[in-house]
Amino acid sequence: MEDLRILQKTASLHEARWWEAEPNNKAHCYLCPRHCHIGDGQAGFCFIRVNEGGKLYSLGYASPAAIQIDPIEKKPLNHFLPGTRVFSMGTAGCNMGCFFCQNWDISKSRSDQVHSTHVSPEDVALLAIGNNCPSIAFTYNEPTIWGEYVIDICHAAKKHGLNTVMVTNGYITYDAFHDIYDQVDAANVDLKAFTENFYGRITLTHLQPVLDTLKWLKNETNVWFEVTNLIIPTLNDEAEEFRRLSDWILENLGPDVPLHFTAFHPDFKLQDKPRTPPETLHRARAIALESGLHYVYEGNIHTDAASTSCPSCKMLLIRRGWHDVQQNRLKDGHCPNCNLKIPGRWSNPRGATPAKILQKAETISTERYGHLNL
Ligand code: SF4
Repeated sequence: MEDLRILQKTASLHEARWWEAEPNNKAHCYLCPRHCHIGDGQAGFCFIRVNEGGKLYSLGYASPAAIQIDPIEKKPLNHFLPGTRVFSMGTAGCNMGCFFCQNWDISKSRSDQVHSTHVSPEDVALLAIGNNCPSIAFTYNEPTIWGEYVIDICHAAKKHGLNTVMVTNGYITYDAFHDIYDQVDAANVDLKAFTENFYGRITLTHLQPVLDTLKWLKNETNVWFEVTNLIIPTLNDEAEEFRRLSDWILENLGPDVPLHFTAFHPDFKLQDKPRTPPETLHRARAIALESGLHYVYEGNIHTDAASTSCPSCKMLLIRRGWHDVQQNRLKDGHCPNCNLKIPGRWSNPRGATPAKILQKAETISTERYGHLNL
């Protein structure tokens, strides 16, 4: 547990949800399966949930440490409003301890170690509108740990006709699951490997809670979700593991949940592993398709397997180059050749933004947040 005496002086305190008081001024956080029991003046494993005087606070609330406009394909989501921009944001901290973290500069930092800007939930929505983004993504670090802020942003987003996206490691308890996921429209869940050994040694967590989250998403929500598996040479790149992972997805989530195999590059504490060879991604994809999954993609390399094809007649439907959509032939979400319905959210169900809000959003984006250089 981190001592947060200094941190408390600098960060604004917003009372947390999903905690209970314990004897001796301790707080039990049950937002994620770590179930931290946090002493007075200390923080949980994720750094940004702190106990001050026996009460739990969320330091991530309204304090994004990273804000950027990305293509939705970068999340990655290939079946959710393709070719659109997504207002992307993250805070400090994380509830996993991945040795290969590619955003470690913020995910392994405390709130007082990163440069953050105060942005209210309403202003997040207006910034998204002002920057022509139909969606907001909670990304870069693990959004579960700042779930209070996520929920309030979702309410503001809905009010303004925007969509919301969780880019998550799926490490959340059932106590908090519906509070958050009943509010969001889409998610990409990192299934980092398919062995408990990998999860325990390389992420300092467990596999089963992530599998549970995927099943809850499938069976208990309307969230559109896709799955990502980052392949790291020698750690999770065995054919047998690809087969078991694909079979599990087919059996528990069905053939239409898109699966992204993505390439690793050396980062953080895993500098001794090489980049993932493209052949490994091709092999993983071939195994997943052979298992019966319909939409299997490769990412972080230049590849034809970033494009979407019809699983029935094989027609190329959406051609992508890296994260760009170069051609989209879908007709109302159907294959124009054989008329197969392609699962996904292909058009924004929410209406156009009223001119008055649009004007306000543009003014705020330039006058209040021009320094963000979005
Ligand atoms: S969200 Fe943070 S404080 Fe809460 S249990 Fe998880 S790691 Fe611990």
